[in-house]
Amino acid sequence: MIKLRERRSLDQHPCFHGKASASWGRVHLPVAPDCNIQCNYCNRLYACVNESRPGVTRSVLKPAEALTALNRLLQQRADIAVVGIAGPGDPLCDLDRTLETLRAVHAIHPELLICVSTNGLNLPGHIDELVAAGVTHVTVTVNAVDPHIGQQIYSSVTEKHQTYQGLEAANILLGRQEEAVAGLKQRGLMVKINTVVLPGINTGHIPAIAAKVAAWGADTMNCIPLIPVHDTPFAELETPTEAEMVYIRKSISGHIPQIYHCRRCRADAVGLLCDNDTVGVLAL
Ligand code: SF4
Ligand code: SF4
Repeated sequence: MIKLRERRSLDQHPCFHGKASASWGRVHLPVAPDCNIQCNYCNRLYACVNESRPGVTRSVLKPAEALTALNRLLQQRADIAVVGIAGPGDPLCDLDRTLETLRAVHAIHPELLICVSTNGLNLPGHIDELVAAGVTHVTVTVNAVDPHIGQQIYSSVTEKHQTYQGLEAANILLGRQEEAVAGLKQRGLMVKINTVVLPGINTGHIPAIAAKVAAWGADTMNCIPLIPVHDTPFAELETPTEAEMVYIRKSISGHIPQIYHCRRCRADAVGLLCDNDTVGVLAL
């Protein structure tokens, strides 16, 4: 009789659960090059081996290539609990490409947890497809819950071939993010909120974000200090200090549980969170 492989338990996701991070790793499949919004801190033009930050990858893979690379990786190590898609763009911008990848992964490796990280714009209306493709964990990046602040962070939001800017863009995105988080929780998925801490832009607004996303039903929140990237409107902002991050996380931990061990990984990161990402990039 064929023995079905048991799925990892939800608390084996190393990013959502600090205790799991010492034993269990993740792999990001970099199959999502495009994005449907433009954040003022993001520049994805760098294909790079040495830099370790979100949006960077050695290369963008086709779904079949990603599966080949994953199969090879899983032959080499048994500590991978999660397959995620975290860019280098937004995984739901080209939904077909992401679903093709996830369905193939879930069919061949049903034991693995599956995770997607998104800005949330294109999530409402597609949650059932993601669940059917095996998705268990979703991260939604929410940098503002006041569109007057959001309009300083997002220079554009594009959907159905129409591009929006300013307050209108920030309002559209915020509405989708709320709908997305509520819909994910209705279907029982684990939801993490990523918030990029942008000094002078949203620092004083972080408690309001924490209270709001908790009310939406999110499980946990990950405040990420800005990594200023050249050739972006926020290139000249300072990165928050460690002391500021400690203070921010402490001041909002009463609203929603905080994540303290995020490594701000590349879109092709591999392994335990304590591994060196610049070495552990997914290889074809
Ligand atoms: Fe970059 Fe992500 Fe913002 Fe898109 S949503 S612009 S990929 S940071
Ligand atoms: Fe996990 Fe943070 Fe890395 Fe995402 S960026 S995989 S949440 S450690």
